[in-house]
Amino acid sequence: MPIPARHLPEQAFARILRDTVHEVGERFLAAVVDQLAALLQAQTVFVTRALDAPPTRVEVLACSRAGWFDAFSLAGSPCELVYDGRSVAIEQGVAERFPAARDSGCEGFFGFPFFDGEGRCIGHLGLFFKETGGLSPALAEQLRLLSLRLEAELLRLDTLTHLESAGRKLKFQNRILKMAARHAPLPEVLTQLILGIEAEHPQMLCSIMCPNPDGKTIGVVAAPSLPAAYSAAIQQVRIGPGVGSCGTAAYSGERVVIESIETHPYWANFRDLALGHGLHSCWSQPVKDADGQLLGVFAIYHCQPTKPTASDIALIESLADLSSLVLGHYAILDELRRRATTDDLTGLKNRACFMQMLAAEFQRSQRHERPLSVLMFDLDHFKSINDSHGHAVGDAVLRAVGAVCQAQLRSEDLLARIGGEEFAVILPETATAGALEVGEKLRAAVACLSIPLPGQAPLQISTSVGCAMLSGGERNHEELLSLADKALYRAKDGGRNRVCGQLAD
Ligand code: GH3
Ligand code: MG
Ligand code: MG
Repeated sequence: MPIPARHLPEQAFARILRDTVHEVGERFLAAVVDQLAALLQAQTVFVTRALDAPPTRVEVLACSRAGWFDAFSLAGSPCELVYDGRSVAIEQGVAERFPAARDSGCEGFFGFPFFDGEGRCIGHLGLFFKETGGLSPALAEQLRLLSLRLEAELLRLDTLTHLESAGRKLKFQNRILKMAARHAPLPEVLTQLILGIEAEHPQMLCSIMCPNPDGKTIGVVAAPSLPAAYSAAIQQVRIGPGVGSCGTAAYSGERVVIESIETHPYWANFRDLALGHGLHSCWSQPVKDADGQLLGVFAIYHCQPTKPTASDIALIESLADLSSLVLGHYAILDELRRRATTDDLTGLKNRACFMQMLAAEFQRSQRHERPLSVLMFDLDHFKSINDSHGHAVGDAVLRAVGAVCQAQLRSEDLLARIGGEEFAVILPETATAGALEVGEKLRAAVACLSIPLPGQAPLQISTSVGCAMLSGGERNHEELLSLADKALYRAKDGGRNRVCGQLAD
């Protein structure tokens, strides 16, 4: 028995286009499916977009029936045939033939695919009918043309979505780089970076680890969403092969993707820790500077075993690039600060840094009425060392003096090289007697130094030390230092290789 074909009422196709010409985006799609459903008396008309590639699931962008699916799996549905890349016309028996349509009671299904520029099927127009019957050739042709219009709209929507997400990404990157440019504390910048990513990808938990000063381990600098106890437990992760995901990535300089922490040998020593905090997968991307030096490791954790998609890999790579800009910026800042405060020859603090620290200590001691002393010492007859043995030996003497004196001091004392062969020490919480004692220790240590000379007896040196203590009469830190300088000159006048305190006057 021939099945009667459906016709579109005369002018209907032109009317749909005319009535929807002012609509855009999802409103256009909704208007088209509603009009088609009404004109053709279809049970359901809908427009979908593929959610993955190759397509296994689709998102319903517009549907003539309220409360229909937001998304569905293609398996077992007649729509699956459309994603092979051709129009589908099934005139009867849909509910019997397709398990996914069993409860629909539908007889007919017609599907028209949408393609992207590379010929991949990215969505479709679907029509379900309760009654048996085909489409007249004219109607099929009109629906095919309408599909082209729908396809264009879908591609436009995709482009908009991409542009929006690229715009959001750019804005986000700008915000992070602005924070860095304003020298916000590094952990704060990295925390904002991670929170921004986690807001877009709620299933991800991120961390950034950086090398510790020992150069052999890495520790967490920012991980706002990881359990605090877990972060605390990974502050000293060895940089080495097979040491979790991050230790291995830091060691190899390559991305390490561990889909299942439970089964991977790299995690043998951290497995219980991670699983105990509900962490089941970890992908780690090394962060390097332009010269390939390791700056840190960016890690993405998941609470289930998880395999990264191509877009996840692109994401972690772009996060590593952004982290590299931030960490590189702070590494340069640190180096500039270090250079501005350090004496290159001895590695001690320089004069500028010493004066700044002395000013701060001076104020603190005055405010809290705490004792504070300053030592100044100057090598004896240093000019003659340079003259007899050369500048290089003179430099070696300065380095040796710096090292031996540093070893005599407490961690809270500050030793600096404040001039050519002139050194000074800030002694917080120290009164005259204690300061004289420290001065004597330094003098004795320098006197005991013996600098090896090729083919000659080792060189012996001495130093003269001046000591001053805050008495309350000084107007500023410079006055305190000049008291120590005066005491130093008395030590020189008194015959050198000795310690003098300030006079009681
Ligand atoms: P005094 O016992 O009175 O302190 O005598 P002195 O020879 O140590 O005093 P003076 O201030 O005349 O000499 C300091 C010398 O230190 C002169 C300068 O060439 C030398 N000097 C300054 N900076 C450096 C340096 O960085 N390296 C070396 N090798 N010598 C330096
Ligand atoms: Mg000298
Ligand atoms: Mg001098």
